[in-house]
Amino acid sequence: MKYTLKKAFEKILLYCRNNIVTNINDEFTKFTGFTKEEIIGKSLIEISCILRIDSQVHPGNVDSEYDCYMFTKEYEPREVTISCMLSSSEYEKIYSFKEKPNSRIEDKNMYFQQLCNDNQVGAAVYSFPDLILLKDNEKHLGFLEYPYNKKENSIGKSLKETLTGYVNSNAEKRFLDIIQTGNSYYLKEVKYDRLKRGVTYWDISLVPIKIKGKIKYLVQTITDVTEKVENRMLAEEKTKQLESILESMYDGVYVVDKDLNITESNIRLRKLVYDYDSFKKVSDALNTIKLYDFEGNLITSDSMPVRRVFMGKKVEDLRLTAIRPDGVFNFSYNGSPIFDKNGNVEKAVISVRNITENVKKDQIIKKQNGMLNAIIENITDSLIIIDENGQYTMVNKTFKDNFSISAIEPITPEILMKKVECYDVHGNRLLLQNLPSRRVSRGESFSEYRIDYKFKDGHVDTFEVNGAPIYDSEGNFIAGVLVSRNINERLKNEETKLMLAKYDILNRTIENLNLNYTLFSYPDAKIKYINRKAFNYLRKINPKLESIDSCIGMDSFEIYMRNMNEKVEIESKLKEVIANNGGSFIFNRKISIAGKESFHKFIFQPLYNFDKNVTEIVVIGIDMTEELEAKSKMEKALKLQDEILTNIAHELKTPLNLIYSTNQLMEMYLKNGSIEEYREKLGHSANIIKQNCFRFMRLINNIIDTSKIKSGFLNLSLSNENIVEVVENIVQSISEYIKGKGINIIFDTDIEEKIIACDTNKIERIMLNLISNAVKFSNTEKNIYVGVSDKNNTVEISVRDSGIGIDKKYLNKIFDRFYQVDKSLSRNAEGSGIGLALVKSLVEIHGGKISVDSEVDKGTTFKIELPVGTIAEDEIACDKIITIDNKIEMINMEFSDIYSI
Ligand code: ADP
Repeated sequence: MKYTLKKAFEKILLYCRNNIVTNINDEFTKFTGFTKEEIIGKSLIEISCILRIDSQVHPGNVDSEYDCYMFTKEYEPREVTISCMLSSSEYEKIYSFKEKPNSRIEDKNMYFQQLCNDNQVGAAVYSFPDLILLKDNEKHLGFLEYPYNKKENSIGKSLKETLTGYVNSNAEKRFLDIIQTGNSYYLKEVKYDRLKRGVTYWDISLVPIKIKGKIKYLVQTITDVTEKVENRMLAEEKTKQLESILESMYDGVYVVDKDLNITESNIRLRKLVYDYDSFKKVSDALNTIKLYDFEGNLITSDSMPVRRVFMGKKVEDLRLTAIRPDGVFNFSYNGSPIFDKNGNVEKAVISVRNITENVKKDQIIKKQNGMLNAIIENITDSLIIIDENGQYTMVNKTFKDNFSISAIEPITPEILMKKVECYDVHGNRLLLQNLPSRRVSRGESFSEYRIDYKFKDGHVDTFEVNGAPIYDSEGNFIAGVLVSRNINERLKNEETKLMLAKYDILNRTIENLNLNYTLFSYPDAKIKYINRKAFNYLRKINPKLESIDSCIGMDSFEIYMRNMNEKVEIESKLKEVIANNGGSFIFNRKISIAGKESFHKFIFQPLYNFDKNVTEIVVIGIDMTEELEAKSKMEKALKLQDEILTNIAHELKTPLNLIYSTNQLMEMYLKNGSIEEYREKLGHSANIIKQNCFRFMRLINNIIDTSKIKSGFLNLSLSNENIVEVVENIVQSISEYIKGKGINIIFDTDIEEKIIACDTNKIERIMLNLISNAVKFSNTEKNIYVGVSDKNNTVEISVRDSGIGIDKKYLNKIFDRFYQVDKSLSRNAEGSGIGLALVKSLVEIHGGKISVDSEVDKGTTFKIELPVGTIAEDEIACDKIITIDNKIEMINMEFSDIYSI
């Protein structure tokens, strides 16, 4: 009984009424670690939670016996059999807990205990097949998520509950697999992505533990390898990326070990290197190619870039030229060492880039830049590049020279404005904001914009400025370009050209005006130009002058002036004119060369150049000789006219006196009634009056006719006549008129007929004049020969006498009006000296010529040559019927000078 009691007493008991615990025995406390205070008064549901059997069974549901795991206060699992023992009352129940013998895990598996205690890996023991968590360590708890990461919340719970997302996960599959097959699992880096904290990777071992041939537990070890996996994956990713970078790199890259073997390389390298497959060591390359640095030094295997890297040096953009069988290439090398743990260079990473094209381009650009710079620096235009603020980013040498800026002196538009004042063409001062640089910076373009730069020393330079902004493809202002040019010379040239053009006109005018023209420099007075006329004039003064060319450069005063006085006079006048800033002066000169006088008027004109200085003098000489001669001729003519008037007065007076005195005599006879007595005398008087009236008429006719001819009013009444007959008729008439007066007129002709167009009246007057002269100037022997001879195209009429003749020196004067050789010689005759002048004019209007041949005291011959030619009948004038009376009157008139007749 005692045993029974003891036995009964030893039982672990829990008393309850109406599902509320009313008591527990001490054994219960001993077994579970829970005290009465912790248990009594709790409901059975609460108790199942405290004892962690709630996942397996509810005590109220236990009718008789139930095997399950319960847990002590210290979370130790105890495999028990729960039995329900009825008590007296129906509402009172007693539950007994009986541990299964040898069921404790720690007793069974020390290794497992150890595993848990180590806490190196997560370790857990699950019941089989319910997968109730029986035991685990802190590490394992770390895998579970709140609230199951706390022992009090996870122990006793099934895996379904504690592992988030377990149901239908691949983890569940594994567990089910083990449950079915009993096989162990060792899984590495299992991905579990159902936790709230994200994807995790675990190394897991699942080992079923058999007891007496039956699986009793599942022991799980679990190591979180997420970080490791992630790192590795990251590394793998990076490696992949690196590889793709390496392969896609433009540079060839290779890694070389200490023995110069290439351990890694990318595709690019294999393409870059000549015959890559034929060598393993880097230095093998030198077998087929030659490498030089840019200074031309040969690269040996000892000086290859890789060697430098192994010496611990970094290689940066080392440029080498490779002469290869397939051409010449330029490469740029970069290299870095990779050090081992001990700090020794283990490997070298070299990258190589083909820069052949770049080098070529660089060389071209360098050359072009050089050229461009040389051009920019050497152009005669000044060049400025400006930024968007109108500041200079570049100015060339010419610009600096133009404004006397030294090479190192800084220059800005502001500084420039302090050196010079700027004006536009209208003379308006330009302010800073209107300078070309500012205008271009505002986007303006302009060309041939003229600016006057006035410098501090007062001198002004004129520039022509072109400006344009430069934009990029998006329309942003990149720079402004200003090109300017000093146009002082051009302006001067334009002015000079204008002046030259004026000179040209002047020159031509002078040449056309036939003026003397000389240009000499001033003040050194060297002849620069001389025209033909001036040269001819100078040669008269200086016969030694050879040619126009030889005059150039000679001292103009020396060859122009005849004496020192002239030189001094002209030089001082020139100075005076120039000092008074303008004008010219005139210098008159008369020279006499070989008895011939010439008069010149010289105008000295200083020429002012662009700078308002006189460097040249123009001398224009006007030959006044003819004008002065004409003037003296005029004076002579006026004098002659006076003489003529006196002459005429005298000529008129003589017959008038005679008429007047004869008239007085006749009046006297009339008064004293003695007309009859003096009949004979009165007849003579009447004759005298008549003859003198003829003389009047002849003189007046002659004056009128010569005047008419001179002024072109005397018209010929032409008709076709036989000239032989016309001459013969007048000779015959005169012969009859002078019959018995001791005068013989002999007519001779070699032709009978020659019809020419002539005015018979005028021919008669010609003949009368000549024959009356022949009579007048014959002394004793009065034989007069009149001849007509045929000269084919002309007819020659001659009148010859053997009278007093005419001295040779007067021969060409007798045809002048009122010229008489010797008035005293004409004692028995009168004359006015007008007859021959009229004859000559009449011959000439017939188209003929008159000439005279004479010898003093031997006689004179006048010859008239008339052209042979007729006129048409309808042109013949019909108003000239001359009666014989008229003819006699005419002869009377023409011979009225001769008293003896
Ligand atoms: P006039 O007979 O009225 O003097 P003329 O004109 O006819 O005027 O003649 C001019 C001069 O020429 C004369 O005065 C004379 O001296 C000279 N002369 C003209 N005819 C002869 C002649 N046949 N013989 C000599 N002298 C002549």
